[in-house]
Amino acid sequence: MATRLRSEFMSALNLVLFGPPGSGKGTQAELLRDRLGFVHYSTGEVFRDHISRKTPVGVAVEQYVVSGGLVPDETVMAVVSAFLTDHAGRSIVFDGFPRTIPQAAGLDKVLAERSAAVDVAVLVDLSDDEAVRRLTSRRQCRRCAKIYNLSFSPPREAGKCDDCGGELYQRRDDSEAVIRDRLGVYHSQTRPLIEFYEAQARLTRIDGALGRDRVFEVLSELVDGLKGR
Ligand code: ADP
Repeated sequence: MATRLRSEFMSALNLVLFGPPGSGKGTQAELLRDRLGFVHYSTGEVFRDHISRKTPVGVAVEQYVVSGGLVPDETVMAVVSAFLTDHAGRSIVFDGFPRTIPQAAGLDKVLAERSAAVDVAVLVDLSDDEAVRRLTSRRQCRRCAKIYNLSFSPPREAGKCDDCGGELYQRRDDSEAVIRDRLGVYHSQTRPLIEFYEAQARLTRIDGALGRDRVFEVLSELVDGLKGR
């Protein structure tokens, strides 16, 4: 038993997915969870949940999330540290975190304190025009958070989630003006992560325009390679 637990612990991976809003990282993270057993950790989802429950964190972050700005690094790091404490030893896909250099350095630090590290940081890249096109037709389930796109992955029944029957809605930050602001924030704050992870030799780039299934194939091969190290 001890040996089995030890080997499971040793094979736990920490995978960072980053890229512009609309690049499909949330969808890929869902696939990594459903097909490869990762814990899907989306800071955006965590904040939306706090906002809908009107918790103190939700009240503090709402203004940033609704306007497309970034939640302050200290708030984000406090939420992430608590999450890591609860999920020690599991393979995790970080979706939408880190989003700034201080967050990336903070993640390295909290993982190192747990004798772990980021195994790979994957940039899912996409042009701004394609991101806007995708996000304006994005819809999400209010109940289970599954993501749909009215153009290329619509639900079977309009307005209703295929999986749980929940109501589909458009995120408040998916209007064109807010999307443009989020892209601006992405270019100035998050794209510098490319050099950060390149300097650590941990960066892999995938073309987000390849489509959901092809992107997932590339990711699965990457995960297989890391597990076989
Ligand atoms: P997307 O990647 O599609 O823009 P997310 O669901 O990842 O959407 O994030 C939605 C919003 O939540 C962001 O615009 C930002 O306000 C906030 N947020 C999420 N993750 C972070 C983070 N790591 N740092 C700061 N703010 C964040």
